[in-house]
Amino acid sequence: MSNERAYNFSAGPSMLPLPVIEDVAANLANYKGCGESVMEMSHRSAEFKAILADAEQNLRDIMNIPDNYKVMFIQGGGTLQFAMVPLNLLRKSGKADYVITGTWAKKAAKEAEKFGDIKIVASSEDSTFSYIPKVNREDFRPDADYVHITLNNTIYGTHYPYIPDTGDIPLVADMSSCILSEEIDVTKFGLIYAGVQKNVAPSGIAVAIMREDLIGFAKENVPTYLDYKIHADNGSTYNTPNCFSIYVAGEVFKYIKDMGGVPAMHKLDVEKADKLYDYIDASSLYNCPVNKEDRSLMNVVFVTGNPDLDKKFVAEAKAANLHNLGGHRSIGGMRASIYNAMPMEGVDALIDFMKKFEEENK
Ligand code: PLP
Repeated sequence: MSNERAYNFSAGPSMLPLPVIEDVAANLANYKGCGESVMEMSHRSAEFKAILADAEQNLRDIMNIPDNYKVMFIQGGGTLQFAMVPLNLLRKSGKADYVITGTWAKKAAKEAEKFGDIKIVASSEDSTFSYIPKVNREDFRPDADYVHITLNNTIYGTHYPYIPDTGDIPLVADMSSCILSEEIDVTKFGLIYAGVQKNVAPSGIAVAIMREDLIGFAKENVPTYLDYKIHADNGSTYNTPNCFSIYVAGEVFKYIKDMGGVPAMHKLDVEKADKLYDYIDASSLYNCPVNKEDRSLMNVVFVTGNPDLDKKFVAEAKAANLHNLGGHRSIGGMRASIYNAMPMEGVDALIDFMKKFEEENK
């Protein structure tokens, strides 16, 4: 056991900003002198109402969310959104078009297939999801109720270098692994959702940002909790929410604001990712299989080409306080998730370790 915090490269749950953790710890038993922990607080109390209102307002500020969009904090993570999206948005033709860029996109489409006529309009599965297909207006069915994309693909380390033009068809995006790492024009989307456990807060909720005119179309047999209107009309407190996760999310939004907002996060994210990719591309041991223009800023995937050596790398890195560098169990290799809270020092420590490992394993 060590008292030292590791650099944790986990894809999620992942590192949170240390100042936020320390502030939360200082207020854990007695939140700002109110005599109660946020974990114990009634979600109808004035204290929690203020926490929730501030969290929403700070998210609105840092993402420039227009007034005609609702912000909701919903339990069930990203996965429940895979079901809520079709249950609420298959509202006219019952058709939706999905672009398949990885495991999470596939899961989203598979869930939607339970509820409607789902068309896979493009997929990069033929090349192990190493690139993002180019799609545009002509690729979508004109009467589709929505188009779904996964903006950042956590497992394969890809990210859309563009936002698809869907014309009048609402665009729905899973931003679980890239939210708050780049400026997003919210008006280009009908719905943005993200499980929070990467760039935002402890796991347990998803943030949903939804254009108001798309809310209210769930059929009568849709379970109450799965209707966005219930969450929108009740300000995310229809039932007892995950108060603690919402609280920490709010603290992270405030922290990002104080640090200079999403553009400041993005600048640092680009510097960290460029440094790591540049090193990998120049090295003779490591290789990044992802198409250059489609590379993720958040999840950097690399391999040595020898699965046994990859395993040795992950084990030795862990012993050097660089945790969770194994690739997803479905593809192996290595993956360094370098979300907003990973400091540049963590990336430097990883590169130093990679150099040493390369020297020792030539
Ligand atoms: N979407 C993406 C892009 C993800 O990376 C993940 C999880 O890692 C999910 C959805 C699923 O999220 P959850 O575990 O919150 O259900």
